Amino acid sequence: MPYKIKVKNPIVEMDGDEMTRIMWQMIKEKLILPFLDINLKYYDLGIKHRDETNDMVTVEAASAIIEHGVGVKCATITPNAARVKEYGLKQQWKSPNGTIRSILDGTVFRKPIIIKNIPPAVKMWRKPIIIGRHAYGDIYKNVECIIDKPGTAEIVFTPADGSAKTVLKIYDLKNPGVVMGMHNTEKSIRSFAKSCINYALSEKIDLWFGAKDTISKQYHGFFRDVFAEEIKKVEDEFKASGIQYRFMLIDDAVAQLMKSDGGMLWACMNYDGDVMSDMVASGFGSLGLMTSVLVSPNGKYEFEAAHGTVVRHYYEHLKGNPTSTNSIASIFAWTGAIAKRGELDNTPVVVKFAKTVEDAVIKTVENGVMTKDLMLIAKPSVSRYALTEEFIDTVAESISREV
Ligand code: NAP
Ligand code: MG
Repeated sequence: MPYKIKVKNPIVEMDGDEMTRIMWQMIKEKLILPFLDINLKYYDLGIKHRDETNDMVTVEAASAIIEHGVGVKCATITPNAARVKEYGLKQQWKSPNGTIRSILDGTVFRKPIIIKNIPPAVKMWRKPIIIGRHAYGDIYKNVECIIDKPGTAEIVFTPADGSAKTVLKIYDLKNPGVVMGMHNTEKSIRSFAKSCINYALSEKIDLWFGAKDTISKQYHGFFRDVFAEEIKKVEDEFKASGIQYRFMLIDDAVAQLMKSDGGMLWACMNYDGDVMSDMVASGFGSLGLMTSVLVSPNGKYEFEAAHGTVVRHYYEHLKGNPTSTNSIASIFAWTGAIAKRGELDNTPVVVKFAKTVEDAVIKTVENGVMTKDLMLIAKPSVSRYALTEEFIDTVAESISREV
């Protein structure tokens, strides 16, 4: 038996779907298990098993993250009507990420991996732009309905203490239309602001926050004011760290960001973070280079790749065709979790192993071995691309030489 590095406490492993599930297995078998003696608490969040368990497995996985502190998750299908048909599901189960986020009440930070020979599409960007996405509420916990006859749509707030109701008219609909109601909570917004402040202080980077408070004076204005209150408490620490807080109109934030050289944490409301993280990811090269971590206010961590299950590649794989799918963000999800586990357990050798794997990945790409998505944007250009498994095998060889 070759020597393996002992990991003190467990990591919660959440398996997923389609192409990422195929890569997940390879990463685990080739890059992790040969080197680490680790207790993985395994939860299968693949769509079939979620359906069989009426999605209870997702809730159990979230509780396990709360218990053990660190989780790593493979991308999963969020079913829509087409997926219900494709997989013969009992119903359109909710997004697992949404479920886990609400249980942990965490903030998602997305950080691109920067590699020398993969220059960003936005020339100015030299340092990572990290997006902090508020992971609770707004349209992700909305109620909405299609209206098919004339009538009045209202928002009604009924106080629990029996005092007078508040009734606001949304619109008098004369024709068919749609309406929506949504909410957020001060507690969640405040812990979001705190998580962002902590992240900015620990990384010593500026914190930006953008909202549309000119239009949404109360809803977006509320976010702005909570941020301002939390920032006030850390003014001295920000000054001592040489970092700044900037509140901007969201439009202005977008415009400024495109002209900046990066290196800031951009705090985003839920929907902005969902959309802008995809924009920033492709600006930095490929969705395959974007990592993501959900951090709860009481210090629980869930790591994953920002991209989805890469379904188009999976269908090719099912036809027996070779694929060239980028596994880097999924590998970094594993290394992120392992490094955090080592940090919390106070086992530097575990942290060092995670860094060794990350260095092996970056060196592999810098040596010209990369998947197709990166080949298309590499400078200097390379003449061929690696297949999915070939890339992982090359990384495995490189780790074997180092460990
Ligand atoms: P996606 O899986 O992120 O893929 C969109 C496209 O981006 C791919 O078709 C591919 O482009 C490119 N791409 C993404 N990741 C790549 C990688 N690692 N290597 C190479 N190319 C990559 O998004 P989607 O197709 O919209 O969603 C598929 C499924 O994933 C959906 O069921 C959705 O619900 C789910 N999803 C899950 C998560 C999550 O669990 N965190 C997040 C997003 C979406 P080309 O086809 O042009 O090569
Ligand atoms: Mg998105």
